Amino acid sequence: MSVAKKTRYTSVSDLKQAGLLPGCDSHAYEDLAGRYAVGVNAQVERTLAGTDNPLLDPVGRQYLPSPEELKVLPEELGDPIGDLPHSPVKGIVHRYPDRVLLKISNICAVYCRYCFRREMVGPGQDVFSDDDLEAALGYIEATPAIWEVILTGGDPLVLSARRLEDVLSRLNRISHVQVVRIHSRVPVADPQRITDTICNVLKSSGRPIYLVIHINHAQEITPEVEVALAQLRAAGCSLLSQSVLLKGVNDDPAVLESLFRRLIGLHVKPYYLHHPDLAVGTGHFRVTIERGREIMRALQGRLSGICLPRYVLDIPGGYGKVPVEHSYAVLLDEGRYVVEDIDGNLHFYPPRVEAADG
Ligand code: SF4
Repeated sequence: MSVAKKTRYTSVSDLKQAGLLPGCDSHAYEDLAGRYAVGVNAQVERTLAGTDNPLLDPVGRQYLPSPEELKVLPEELGDPIGDLPHSPVKGIVHRYPDRVLLKISNICAVYCRYCFRREMVGPGQDVFSDDDLEAALGYIEATPAIWEVILTGGDPLVLSARRLEDVLSRLNRISHVQVVRIHSRVPVADPQRITDTICNVLKSSGRPIYLVIHINHAQEITPEVEVALAQLRAAGCSLLSQSVLLKGVNDDPAVLESLFRRLIGLHVKPYYLHHPDLAVGTGHFRVTIERGREIMRALQGRLSGICLPRYVLDIPGGYGKVPVEHSYAVLLDEGRYVVEDIDGNLHFYPPRVEAADG
């Protein structure tokens, strides 16, 4: 009798058996088992097929656990971007006046090793119940300043079509909510979930839907991903992308150039390049802000503006997201600026002179 091949690996031992952790030191990996959620699916496995060492592959490195995760640095935090201090009710993060996060799922299709919410997502975490949803929607309804609702998690597109439809239709009934944004890894990491049913739900939303896909490397764009993106576009979604700058995955201008050009070719506007957050056990993924700026400067010179995302940092502690790109214009004295061109040459920009009266 043949044994059916697994299509999803959720533990270190599963991954070992599948040959996805070659040459690993079993003791170190045993210590890691159960510490953070593991999730590798058939889509990721197909992307890794034929790779010499999946642990060194830019896609494998994003999903395959490493004993480096056991190294906890003093600056690392369980809630690195400060969701909790800005959570008036469960599932809501209200950091900026005109928008809220609505964390409707704590489950993901896959589990990223650098996840900024790794202490909050995965099986066994506190579920978001129907009562929690009622309370969260009640908060949105009672807060007229909220113009945009951002569905996030976990991953909102792992929910059933019926649950998603319910949430969207109820948001649609709140007149001050004018825009819905969805942050999801699913179109890239599990594109088969983008079914006609899900697309019909998105299409029938009464509000513009901005879908921000999470993607870090051009190797993740398989033919299945291209189909999913085309379906989402046909469903009327505006497509944006967010990437995390990750050591050993995409900390190279040529790698990001290739990713951003591919995305624009698929009608996806690169939106954010995140500086990695101070999540516990993710130090091996972090680069310096200086390195991030160098990469963005290299891209500034050679990529069309439509390909360029904003390079942003979420300030630890919950103080919000700000651009941390290199500044090309520096104020000198008396309103004069010195401005740097893309080749590094400096030019003066004059102060504004008021026209004399009369
Ligand atoms: S999909 Fe997002 S929330 Fe889920 S593990 Fe990856 S980074 Fe974390």
